[in-house]
Amino acid sequence: MKLRITVLPGDGIGPEVTSEAVRVLHSVADICGYHFEFNERPIGGSAVVAAGDPLPNDTLKSCLDSDAVLLGAVGGPAFDRLEPSLRPEAGLLRLRQALGCFANLRPAAANQALADCSPLRPEVRNGADVLIVRELLGGLYFGQPRAINETEAFNTMRYSIAEVERIAHVAFREARNRHKKVTSVDKANVLETSRLWRAVVARVAEQYRDVTLEHAYVDSFAMQLITTPSRYDVVLTENLFGDILSDEAAVISGSLGLLASASIGGKVGLYEPIHGSAPDLAGQNLANPIGAITSAAMLLRHSANLTAEANGIDEAVGKVIAEGYRTADLLHDPVSRKRAHTTKQVGARVAETVSELLNQRMAYHAV
Ligand code: NAD
Repeated sequence: MKLRITVLPGDGIGPEVTSEAVRVLHSVADICGYHFEFNERPIGGSAVVAAGDPLPNDTLKSCLDSDAVLLGAVGGPAFDRLEPSLRPEAGLLRLRQALGCFANLRPAAANQALADCSPLRPEVRNGADVLIVRELLGGLYFGQPRAINETEAFNTMRYSIAEVERIAHVAFREARNRHKKVTSVDKANVLETSRLWRAVVARVAEQYRDVTLEHAYVDSFAMQLITTPSRYDVVLTENLFGDILSDEAAVISGSLGLLASASIGGKVGLYEPIHGSAPDLAGQNLANPIGAITSAAMLLRHSANLTAEANGIDEAVGKVIAEGYRTADLLHDPVSRKRAHTTKQVGARVAETVSELLNQRMAYHAV
């Protein structure tokens, strides 16, 4: 098995968390005898500094020539005053568009071992396991026209039937492999785009009779996601709503640093933790690398069909958390925070554990 992976560390904590994800992928490759080739390229603010462009041509070419792309995060206060086309986030949006990844999968589940990390009461949180399927290439983030001048600013929310259909199919297919329920989230009582969204999703649902569909308005859903998270399975929604709701869903897991994402459906899959560059933590070896590591697991699952290896990484993460490995974001009182594990310690322990698990499995199958 040969896999070419372009690694885009990006800004802030991006380089720290991606290097732990790469460390874990090296472990998988070593144990399984695979050849994973890693090509690192700049993106975001660091690419503006290095090449005057948040998505240099060479970076894009490397991504398009790869089997998968692993990204850290982009952005930071140093780049906030750049003109819009030079902003780090503009580079990331251009990359998503160039790769054609329209479906963003963002899982959030309650881990029993992290019960004390979530502000949600155990009886509210227990059993929660949500997959947010976010449309990634439409809506306000890409709609034209858009502008800002001295007196006003505007953006355009636009969706075509084809765009809604293709993301709805992804959500229903995912639901078939889970608990067979899709909650489609919109604002159909106010927005025309949402009325189209609702009608198209309902039509697509007719092809998936084994999956239950319900519709919800985004405002009340934002409350219900937190008060009754275990009611939900697959949550299908448009770009902006999905961005906001998936950060909210981090409360179920316990920290933004735990959540992974896969952007699929295009030429090459893009895998990144859902968090940003966390400038407050950058360069201190404090960031939680688990979102980046589990993004690497999603990469193996979706771009390489290496399901057992991906499950091995997820299992290793679960074991390491159960052993008590915790970065500071998972510790809430000042005394225990002093004993927090570092980014590198957590990454190294996951890498070691995944080696042990995959080794055991190979030994078992060899018998
Ligand atoms: P953020 O996700 O960077 O940080 C929000 C909070 O979560 C901070 O308190 C941070 O310390 C914490 N946090 C985030 N990741 C963590 C991790 N791995 N471990 C422990 N704690 C973690 O969001 P923000 O502060 O709103 O944005 C900072 C910058 O990141 C901005 O420039 C923003 O545009 C950018 N951003 C980029 C992406 C991306 O690259 N996909 C996504 C969101 C925000």
